Amino acid sequence: MTFRGIFVEDNDTEAVFARQMSTKGVLELEHERPRPVSKHSKDIFAGRPDMLVLDFRLDIDLGEMEASEAYKGSAMAQQIRDLAVSEPEHDFPIVLVSSEEKIREQFVPDRTSHDLFDKVCSKENVTNERALVRRELISLCAGYQVLRSKVGDFNVLELAGLAADDDYVLDYQDLRHAMQRATTPHLVAAIFLRQLLWRSGPLINIHDACARLGVSKDEGATVSDALRERGLSYEGIFSDGWPRFWAHLLDDFTLGVFGGRATGIPSEERAANVSKAFGNELAPAKSPWTGKTDELIAFACSCCRRGTEMRHSVGVFEMDLPSYSTRRRICWRCIHDDSYLAAVPPFTIDEADRSLIEDVKKLQIPE
Ligand SMILES: [Zn+2]
Repeated sequence: MTFRGIFVEDNDTEAVFARQMSTKGVLELEHERPRPVSKHSKDIFAGRPDMLVLDFRLDIDLGEMEASEAYKGSAMAQQIRDLAVSEPEHDFPIVLVSSEEKIREQFVPDRTSHDLFDKVCSKENVTNERALVRRELISLCAGYQVLRSKVGDFNVLELAGLAADDDYVLDYQDLRHAMQRATTPHLVAAIFLRQLLWRSGPLINIHDACARLGVSKDEGATVSDALRERGLSYEGIFSDGWPRFWAHLLDDFTLGVFGGRATGIPSEERAANVSKAFGNELAPAKSPWTGKTDELIAFACSCCRRGTEMRHSVGVFEMDLPSYSTRRRICWRCIHDDSYLAAVPPFTIDEADRSLIEDVKKLQIPE
């Protein structure tokens, strides 16, 4: 079957993005101009699409609409979410696609609308990383299709692709509580995307997996294949769009390979052991700060994604961090050259580490 979606955009020349985000025969998006919001939202919902994509500003080129009828994408998203609460079996993903500048200057400060969208993506991103964006959109449609079929019976283990006796992996009170209260597909999707797939915790991305193995992030493709072959990859909902690995399975694997706690061993030693285990020569992770391969690389920098050691990194301040997630950290190199300042949404440095910033900026980068 082909997923069908709608792209609401007031600027006719940008309607081409409907085609750019579509994948022939898999997900086909059709452009619609905004009409008065309440009627238009009801029509869209009644049409039971598999996805809705909205531009953020729908109030610039009004066409036949009155100025008083102008609205933003977030207003339509809110109405659709309200409709889905009474008919959860017809819920579908909502994606925001807008220019980088509008996202940074208008959407990011508008905090109340952030939770309305399953994904926020810039038009520049659609153009430059088209294959990735298409894969994520299809994955959202497929994940929601599963979720719609499970309304009234959302089982976190089943949705995560875990067996019943793996229940300890996701046994956290805050996760259980959130799942109990999630009555619609979009609320369950938010738990999976925001709390499990987009954070490090029970699931980690390939950059964190490389860091834990002491291997350079450039080896990601090889490591990813090797971990997948060994059954360490996440196979639950949205896994096609956001490939992840189970941290508990990686721990078991590294214990066998290193014979001890992975992060207590210098990266070059770990990389040598992993190379042997995978039968493939893998470059060790170099500290982004010292450039050396004998550091205790433990996690990926949230900014440059390179494996980083605790002692040359600062913590990111996190609102509402789940008990099962790890606080993000940024390497000293990204602090030193200010690259962390360019991130959207921006990083807020943890207060406890804020005084370090000035110190790090004054340091010479070690030769
Ligand atoms: Zn970095």
